[in-house]
Amino acid sequence: LVSRENHPERSTVRVAGVPIGPDTVTLIAGPCAVETPQQTLEAARMARAAGASLLRGGAYKPRTSPYAFQGLGEAGLRILADVREETGLPIVTEVVNAHDVDLVASYADMLQVGTRNAQNFALLQAVGAAGKPVMLKRGMNATIEEWLMSAEYIAQRGNLDIVLCERGIRTFETATRNTLDVSAVPVVQRLSHLPVIIDPSHSGGRRDLVLPLTRSAIAVGADGVIIDVHPHPEQALCDGPQALVDGDLEELARVMRDFPPLM
Ligand code: PEP
Repeated sequence: LVSRENHPERSTVRVAGVPIGPDTVTLIAGPCAVETPQQTLEAARMARAAGASLLRGGAYKPRTSPYAFQGLGEAGLRILADVREETGLPIVTEVVNAHDVDLVASYADMLQVGTRNAQNFALLQAVGAAGKPVMLKRGMNATIEEWLMSAEYIAQRGNLDIVLCERGIRTFETATRNTLDVSAVPVVQRLSHLPVIIDPSHSGGRRDLVLPLTRSAIAVGADGVIIDVHPHPEQALCDGPQALVDGDLEELARVMRDFPPLM
């Protein structure tokens, strides 16, 4: 279903009317985690200032440590809905558990499946049945074939509104948190009709790499980027070191403008 064999044209996925696909480079930005109404609103304003058309923000955080901030849950979803009302930005937010899919889908414009759940087949089937577009991150240890098979689980439930997100894979390299596999973009675009975006924040794990990796994403033909921003990253409850700050926004907007999509 996700293969280009029977579907030669590359697809555009619309999230509350916002296109992600071959004719554009969509910017999704926002906080890694929803922490407070004020922080989320400020981050959304930063996202909009940089030219984002969708707001990201996690209310359910799949953390490596059980002692780390796990997200605000439904209270976080309510904050996102309020911020959408205030800014007009549709919401992309993660769901980590099949039992929460209906709840998260009742708030979200796009459901995100994270790297740690990329082969949680019950979750993939549940998001496939939820009637909302889905952003499927690549499992950090997943081959491209395995990633596409995960997408197939979603598609099989009748949902072809799937955006694939390359977010870095595990390699021997320790200088970056993960290794961004830029080659995945053209490889997947040849194999699948689904849009492919890049997450330069979670791949590098470092603020200073976000703009260079964004340039690489656009240059290689990605259909969008998803970027963490935070008004006060030193106080962030999750992934502060990779969040862009106010001073980076103009440059981000310029990078997005200066690199037209490859046709
Ligand atoms: C995220 O985008 O909030 C996230 C946790 O990303 P990943 O699943 O890629 O680690």
